[in-house]
Amino acid sequence: MIAEVQTGTNRTAKVSIKGVSKHFATGDGKASKRFFALKDVDLEVSDGEFVTLVGPSGCGKSTLLNIIAGFEKPDAGDVYFEGRPVVAAGPDRLVLFQDHGLFPWLNVQQNVEFGLRVLGLPKKERRERAMEYLKMVHLQKFRHSYPFQLSGGMKQRTAIARALAVHPHMLLMDEPFGALDPRTRDIMHMELQSLWMQTKKTIIFVTHSVEEAVRLADRVVIMASQPGRIRKILKVPLSHPRDFLDPSLAELRTTILAELEDELNKLVQREGDEDWHLDEKSISARARRAPEIDGGEGI
Ligand code: ADP
Ligand code: MG
Repeated sequence: MIAEVQTGTNRTAKVSIKGVSKHFATGDGKASKRFFALKDVDLEVSDGEFVTLVGPSGCGKSTLLNIIAGFEKPDAGDVYFEGRPVVAAGPDRLVLFQDHGLFPWLNVQQNVEFGLRVLGLPKKERRERAMEYLKMVHLQKFRHSYPFQLSGGMKQRTAIARALAVHPHMLLMDEPFGALDPRTRDIMHMELQSLWMQTKKTIIFVTHSVEEAVRLADRVVIMASQPGRIRKILKVPLSHPRDFLDPSLAELRTTILAELEDELNKLVQREGDEDWHLDEKSISARARRAPEIDGGEGI
């Protein structure tokens, strides 16, 4: 049963983030300055919800995910998971990265069984559980293959099976499909929706692709940079599995791109000469005319 979040009002909150700030020092010696990777972030995620965090590079998406995972500590604010303060990383909140992190010397089945071995499960149970999740990600046939023999999508499906097999309470995903080609990513989007519908896991998924964010989420959290913060949260009022050609997804994508327009200007100012500016409304106007412009790559 989910414990009540002590300081919150939402009794079923899986994750509750209250006034979280995190700064890093920049520069060196006397010139060192504090800059906020995150400032005053509040967010509640319900049990079984699929939330995506979207925003430009450097807006604090990974920092927020790492704080929820317990890899990093906030300077201020509180983070609760199932009603308890997050003090360290744990197998109840597993993180999946772009780099699948499979062990190259173990085959697919052994990779999936690895976490179960750590948990001390007997051999028969390990085998059964691994096969259950390999079936779910459609990789039973490849159970004896090694990572080098798999495509990028197959590696990520193995990593997802390995994560789900240890029965985490939540999945934290940091741009897991960022290195995949567009068609493989389409397949992974369908696959992840199906896995989410079967397992009802709470998922927080970080991406810089607006397209990916709207395809997958119940709610899209739009982040802004300098300081890293939540700018807006939008609901995606469509049931899963989604038709990716649904016009309301394209509409939502255009709305989010327009919302992030000035973030692009901030990004070019950070990463170029002072006289480099983007045309006003250029990106959102182009997005309206040609919905494919971000090609799923986003911002
Ligand atoms: P995102 O995932 O949205 O691209 P990050 O959360 O990785 O952004 O980073 C937010 C900001 O904090 C960036 O400007 C990044 O350079 C900075 N940052 C992240 N981790 C560290 C760190 N360990 N030390 C110093 N700066 C960091
Ligand atoms: Mg990141």
